[in-house]
Amino acid sequence: MILQTVLLFGPPGSGKGTQAKRLEISLRAVHISTGDMFRDHLSRRTELGLKIENLLKSGQLVPDTVTNEMVRDRLLRPDVALGTLLDGFPRNIVQARWLELLLGSRGYGIRGVIAMNVPHEQLIDRLKGRALKEGRADDADEAVIRRRLDTYGAQTEACLGFYKEAKKPVHSIDGVGSVDEVTARILKALGAA
Ligand code: AMP
Repeated sequence: MILQTVLLFGPPGSGKGTQAKRLEISLRAVHISTGDMFRDHLSRRTELGLKIENLLKSGQLVPDTVTNEMVRDRLLRPDVALGTLLDGFPRNIVQARWLELLLGSRGYGIRGVIAMNVPHEQLIDRLKGRALKEGRADDADEAVIRRRLDTYGAQTEACLGFYKEAKKPVHSIDGVGSVDEVTARILKALGAA
C-alpha cells in the first residue's frame, strides 16, 4: 500500500489549522503542523524552544535543517501509518525537495496539494482577531504579520510551482466562506467528498 500525504498551503490566517483539524477526521490522516510543534517547544521551554523563540516572535522562518530534522523525527512515529496531512511544511523549495526525498524513501505518495486563497485584507483582519482570541504573539503585531505574508509570497508560494512541475495534483481552493463550505471544497478537490 502506498501511504498518502496531503499538503496544505495557504498564507497565515487562511484557515489551514482550522481545516486541518476537520480534514484529519474525514481523511483519517494525522495532522502535522510544524507551527504547532514549534509553539509546543516554546511553551515547554525546551532547548529547541529557546533557540527558535525570537524567530517565531518576529515571524521569520526557522532554519531548514532544524525544521527538517523535527519533521523527520515526527514522520518516524508509528501513528503516521494511515497517512499524513502536512500543515505549514514545506515552506520553501529547499524543504520541498528534502520532503520529496524523504517521502520517496518511505514509500509515501502525495495525494493532493491544497492551496487556500484568501484576500490579503481579510487575512490581516482574521489574524488580528486570532491574536485577541488565542494570544499568539506573532499575530498581534502588524509588522510581523506583514513579514509572514511577505515570506509566504516570496518563498512558500514557489512550492506550488514545484509541485505543478512535478505533476502532482495541485488544487486551488477559495478560502472565503464558512468553515463547512471550505472543508467541502477541499474534500471535493481531493475526491473524498
Ligand atoms: P504557522 O503556525 O504555520 O504560521 O507557523 C508559525 C511559525 O513557526 C512561523 O512563522 C515560523 O517561524 C515557524 N515555522 C512553521 N513552519 C515552518 C517551516 N516549515 N519552516 C520554517 N519555519 C516554520
